[in-house]
Amino acid sequence: MLIILLGAQGTGKGTVAGILSKRNNWIQLSTGDIFRENIAKGTELGIEADKHISKGCLVPDEITISMVEKRLEELNDAPGIILDGFPRNIIQAEKLDEILSKKGQKVDWVVNLETPREEIITRMLNRRVCSNQDCKSTFNIEIFPPKVDGICDVCGSELKIREDDSDPKAIEKRLEIYDTQTKPLIDFYNKKGIVIVEEISKRINRFAEEACDDIMEKIK
Ligand code: ADP
Ligand code: ZN
Repeated sequence: MLIILLGAQGTGKGTVAGILSKRNNWIQLSTGDIFRENIAKGTELGIEADKHISKGCLVPDEITISMVEKRLEELNDAPGIILDGFPRNIIQAEKLDEILSKKGQKVDWVVNLETPREEIITRMLNRRVCSNQDCKSTFNIEIFPPKVDGICDVCGSELKIREDDSDPKAIEKRLEIYDTQTKPLIDFYNKKGIVIVEEISKRINRFAEEACDDIMEKIK
């Protein structure tokens, strides 16, 4: 089973991917997480990726695609994979189809998470992530606060604001890239008839857990 999670920044892709992978014993493959791990470790990949990420730009396709291809190779025997943050544009999507078809696999489902734009900015500003690289739990000080201020519920480490979330210019740039480069993927996958739409929003009091219940129902 291979599922792609689409949705603008701050819609809860990472949270939904985490819940689905825990419930089903699937593997979550988050390109943003892999980049951040590499940045924290100061690897060559991390240094290169950081040049783009800190500006709110996408990391170049050839770097991202070869990283994902390698990781998919390592995950050949996984019962399920959730791609969170990849593909991000049509080139990556076409390349993914190519990589999968060589293995006789395909994208099974694409979940499109939708959140009203005015909620998205607030969500990004309110997002706090666990500083422990092995934990990476995400909280939201308004809708999903940690039990103790500034401390991760799961592992007790300090929570921090993601660097690219604290710069309004970078946020704006990421949303613009989402609209122009990532949104066209919805059409790309709609043509294959594999898109599931889930609204996650304070407006309708619907968050990640409920969305996951619905996704599980639909892909059964
Ligand atoms: P967000 O969805 O909030 O932008 P992510 O954790 O998914 O956060 O990604 C963080 C950053 O990593 C992105 O802004 C981008 O620079 C880079 N990145 C992640 N995935 C990709 C991708 N598939 N292609 C290019 N760059 C990516
Ligand atoms: Zn933690």
